[in-house]
Amino acid sequence: MASMYSTTYVDDIRQIKEDNPFESMMSRFDRAAQLLNLDPDLYAVLRVPNRELKVYIPTRMDSGRIQVFEGYRVQHNFARGPAKGGIRYAPDVSLDEVRALAAWMTWKCAVVNVPFGGAKGGIICDPQQMSTGELERMTRRYAAELLDFIGPEKDVPAPDMNTNEQTMAWIMDTYSMHARHTVTAVVTGKPIDLGGSSGRREATGRGILFVVNEAIKRFKMTPSETRVVVQGSGNVGGIGAQLMHEAGYKVVAISDIHGGIYNPNGIDIPTALQYLRTTRSFEGYEGVEFVNNQELLELDCDVLVPAATENQITSQNADKLKCKVLAEGANGPTTASADEILHQKGIFVVPDILANAGGVTVSYFEWVQDRMGYFWPEDVVNERLSHKMVASFNDLCRYADAHSVDTRTAAYMLAIDRVAYDTRMRGIYA
Ligand code: NAD
Repeated sequence: MASMYSTTYVDDIRQIKEDNPFESMMSRFDRAAQLLNLDPDLYAVLRVPNRELKVYIPTRMDSGRIQVFEGYRVQHNFARGPAKGGIRYAPDVSLDEVRALAAWMTWKCAVVNVPFGGAKGGIICDPQQMSTGELERMTRRYAAELLDFIGPEKDVPAPDMNTNEQTMAWIMDTYSMHARHTVTAVVTGKPIDLGGSSGRREATGRGILFVVNEAIKRFKMTPSETRVVVQGSGNVGGIGAQLMHEAGYKVVAISDIHGGIYNPNGIDIPTALQYLRTTRSFEGYEGVEFVNNQELLELDCDVLVPAATENQITSQNADKLKCKVLAEGANGPTTASADEILHQKGIFVVPDILANAGGVTVSYFEWVQDRMGYFWPEDVVNERLSHKMVASFNDLCRYADAHSVDTRTAAYMLAIDRVAYDTRMRGIYA
């Protein structure tokens, strides 16, 4: 790494802690910045968040006692518009993780060219151990602490891990009570009756289908001859697998946190997902072989969709992957140390900041519809999503070819290029 780009965060990719998503993300940022020959002033501005808020959230628990939770909102960048990003509730949320996810949102919004910057929020809590009332009171007080920092023109939260439409409705209501009028565009991922968008729930999975459709064309394959393995069966993996199945793909394996099922002749995904919903596990499902989540990643297939969680493909297992296309449904499923191995093996990577950007794209559509007060039918949403994902995929491939780099590096370069251009045009207020 040239000295101009050496940093206080990550100096050498071999020294990064492989499982630290922030370091992984920053090492990719640094490589892309160096290849772009990014101006040092822009580099200094873009590699740090704009603002990090830490809030303490007093919450009256059902016992009558107050418990104080710790929460964050990191606003990484506003150069292209209001900050945008989800809020997660989990016991192991950390500022480092929220910081990485906020930066990823900046690059993701830039890759699909929607007019948002990036943000992310989180509260350290164990939502499984909390009642609905406790979650509502904690959410409202968190929203109240963020009042001056969020808003349709400032920062627009959305659901993430362990938060949902209900959480967004509470935040929208709390914000609106203080504004003294209803402000639907302050959050996205709301219930449809409260200003949500048709097609938002399926948008991330649908976006994956659209990019996989484009990726297999590079291998002159058609859906019916394409074998797909999906890790995770939640919003992204489950819906992605269902939509790929409907589009004629042969989904040969799918998993949840406990493990997966495999049938080389294909799995009837609607039946398997219904079984999972009923029994809460794939265990006992007939006509399949059972595999654990590591074995699943190494199955023989054409397209692998890791759609569960971070750090699944690492320097330890990357050389065992057998897919032609890796379409990253989750955020950060591949560590930076695995990138080079995948590149050497000739695996075509559709990087997370493009592959799972269907969600933020339809969140953008939701924000637009709220501000118009005019709502589009689902086929219009899906058609506009398709257009965005396909155009972004083609932009990325052209960029990778033009700069002779892999698609991961190209995604970061393209995103940084766009954000840097806007920052340069606006000028650095310094
Ligand atoms: P989800 O909670 O609906 O589903 C997660 C799935 O992964 C579940 O099937 C769960 O059993 C499984 N899982 C969890 N931990 C696992 C582990 N350690 N090993 C194997 N499987 C595990 O979550 P989701 O909304 O589908 O999100 C999945 C990923 O996609 C996350 O990285 C999330 O940040 C990312 N993402 C989600 C969206 C969205 O719109 N939901 C958008 C962009 C990115």
